[in-house]
Amino acid sequence: APVIELRAVGKSYGNIHALHGVDLTVEPGRVGCVLGDNGAGKSTLIKIISGLHRHTTGEFLIDGQPVRLSSPREALDRGIATVYQDLATVTLMPVWRNFFLGSELTCGRWPFQSLDIPRMRRIADTELRAMGIVLDDLDQPVGSLSGGQRQSVAIARAIHFGARVLILDEPTAALGVKQSGVVLRYVAAARERGLGVVFITHNPHHAYLVGDHFTVLRLGAVELSADRSAVDLDQ
Ligand code: ADP
Ligand code: ADP
Repeated sequence: APVIELRAVGKSYGNIHALHGVDLTVEPGRVGCVLGDNGAGKSTLIKIISGLHRHTTGEFLIDGQPVRLSSPREALDRGIATVYQDLATVTLMPVWRNFFLGSELTCGRWPFQSLDIPRMRRIADTELRAMGIVLDDLDQPVGSLSGGQRQSVAIARAIHFGARVLILDEPTAALGVKQSGVVLRYVAAARERGLGVVFITHNPHHAYLVGDHFTVLRLGAVELSADRSAVDLDQ
């Protein structure tokens, strides 16, 4: 069953119709890519799913229940974690500590009372490895990591603290070839772990490498919605 379902969702900013009639589902263990030019409505879609904006028409369902999220915290409480390009990692703080501070910031839980430092480091290490990231030094500041690794820290901690859906906002846009590879690897790892992923991107190659489903937005509407099998030339 889908975790998230949008049915004919629309969003207007005054008389600007940023989205209209958009259908989208997010299913566990599947990567749905959302493509579209500037102004197509990608950011608006993310803002609705992540609780920053309310849709004006249509239905937004989580686990089959219609919702109107009123804050990003509400989305997080339902397991929807959004990773923006400018990440909420504290760059001067060691990786392991960021992992837990981040979880407190994003999930409202404070683990320091119950966990000792070696244990916290172990958890951070295990979760990062599960995402395909091996760091030889968890004491290094997050700011010394590459862009893709930094995103991996944010995602590993979101998963550790209960994320079921990852919304990735142009995660490879600012990255080079190698770092984009790090991102595509953690996307595949998240899918393996059963998360539903919404992968917003301008890059059709990146979408093709990891996508199970493709949604192309144009002028606020769905121009194309196709499963991988429909676009796979090898089939
Ligand atoms: P994308 O992320 O694909 O570039 P957006 O969702 O940012 O698309 O924008 C979709 C349309 O909605 C655009 O025409 C944009 O100018 C408009 N828009 C987006 N956010 C706002 C806003 N807060 N107020 C007014 N118009 C907006
Ligand atoms: P809100 O939807 O609550 O207004 P935003 O922070 O997205 O929140 O936007 C604040 C204001 O900035 C909007 O009301 C709009 O006037 C303007 N704005 C933001 N993004 C855009 C955009 N892409 N196109 C046109 N106007 C925008």
